[in-house]
Amino acid sequence: MGYDVQHWIDGHEDAGSTGDTQPILNPATGGEVGTLHLGDASTVDRAVEVAAAAAEEWGRTSLARRTQILYRMRELMIQHTDEIAEVISREHGKTVGDAKGEIARGLETLEFATSITQDLKGGFSQNVSTGVDSHTLRQPLGVVAGITPFNFPAMVPFWMHPIAIATGNAFLLKPSERDPSASNIVARLYQEAGLPDGVFQVIHGGKTVVDALCAHEGIAAVSFVGSTPIAKHVHAAASAAGKRVQALGGANNHAVVMPDANLEFAAAQVASGAFGSAGERCMAVPVAVTVGDAHEGFLAAIKAEAEKLVVGPGDDPTTDMPPVITADARDRVIRMTDEAEQAGGTIVVDGRGLVVEGFEKGNFVGPTVITDLAADHPTYTDEVFGPVLVVMHVNNFDEAIALVNSSPFGNGTAIFTDSGHYARRFEDEIQVGMIGINVPIPTPVGYYSFGGWKDSLFGEHHAHGPEGVGFYTRQKAVTTRWPAQNETVESSMSFPTH
Ligand code: NAD
Repeated sequence: MGYDVQHWIDGHEDAGSTGDTQPILNPATGGEVGTLHLGDASTVDRAVEVAAAAAEEWGRTSLARRTQILYRMRELMIQHTDEIAEVISREHGKTVGDAKGEIARGLETLEFATSITQDLKGGFSQNVSTGVDSHTLRQPLGVVAGITPFNFPAMVPFWMHPIAIATGNAFLLKPSERDPSASNIVARLYQEAGLPDGVFQVIHGGKTVVDALCAHEGIAAVSFVGSTPIAKHVHAAASAAGKRVQALGGANNHAVVMPDANLEFAAAQVASGAFGSAGERCMAVPVAVTVGDAHEGFLAAIKAEAEKLVVGPGDDPTTDMPPVITADARDRVIRMTDEAEQAGGTIVVDGRGLVVEGFEKGNFVGPTVITDLAADHPTYTDEVFGPVLVVMHVNNFDEAIALVNSSPFGNGTAIFTDSGHYARRFEDEIQVGMIGINVPIPTPVGYYSFGGWKDSLFGEHHAHGPEGVGFYTRQKAVTTRWPAQNETVESSMSFPTH
């Protein structure tokens, strides 16, 4: 029932040959809205063959033509934002406004990629030795793949494909099976923008397709974004198959609230980080660390923020906080709240038992605030990935730094303070890849690179921006000498020094 989502191979929809399908569900209603066709290793084989042929030609296509297509793609994405946002809201659950926000943030990387003419300029040095010049050039890898999570079905793939394509590669996307439709719209728009068939393809499926991508010898590099266990698996499998890999994993981001901070401002900002998109963002703020006297005031302010949120379906303009992705995800949030309570935690705001009238079968859970938890309790240490904020309390700044640094994750963090001294020490001493100073979700803009430390990223390269260009290209260094036709030289067995 509903619509049918197929692979996008060689410029058209393709149901593949496995016959396997799975339902696409609307998280707000629990109802089935469509059917997804699932691929396997043979689907990957076919798409890689098409991609390899396309990459040959595309890698030689002029930068002028590549950038013209990307400019056209940007215009088409803007024209079709409503259509894409609506489908994201239906399949993911997030509010339409939030879906438009992720499309806009994804477009930042496309905009960055339109100036690839600048980023592919190599270096040149004249006379590095007498009569000898050196220059560098960057070339595409060939066929590259991206495997992406459910929580940003537009933005996270956009961290990858515009740069991979701008640098001359053919890109295979394996989006999340939970909200697959946005990727097919993007494929259709790339075609409309003039991108040759086979340069951007979409293969749907789960573990079978992911493992086939990691093993395929025709794929030179894999970009992954998702949970830490799968990031580790993809990093190990694709590296063992000799590929370049960047695998971004999970997170448990802390916001430190200093006693000198504007507590109302901090609470409003932390609430948007903790409860926006039902906490299903890798840059969400599931932990606040109150320092010294900040605790009571912050707790009262965050309670007020959480209690005023309207929970409802993503296509209702009055909704602040949407459902979570699956019934399992809702049950996990409730179980982790129960466990925190049983361990002596105080439930300051309780999201369990929330029912949204008219949407009784939806995956709704209300905003939840917990405090008085021990630092080794799993509801604090693990990634809940739902609308739960755990408030930890420490005595001073040094204890706050130690607590944040004790987390195995290192994706994002923030400090709320009026003190330049503590803000500067924070950015210096914290072991985290992306830092906000009075900014709760410090997601770098598209022309910087995005990436965490520790269990939040496996591999050398961060995503998009300059590191994306480095990831999708290989450098050559060329040393040139043009002797005169009658020039003679004596052979020397010494290593040349000048
Ligand atoms: P996930 O790890 O379950 O899935 C990610 C991708 O891996 C999907 O395409 C999925 O089909 C595939 N996959 C799932 N199980 C697999 C398996 N056993 N073997 C091989 N492939 C498998 O993640 P998710 O639930 O879709 O997304 C949420 C997670 O992603 C959270 O942990 C979140 O923190 C993380 N995330 C991280 C970032 C970041 O930038 N670090 C960004 C967004 C999301």
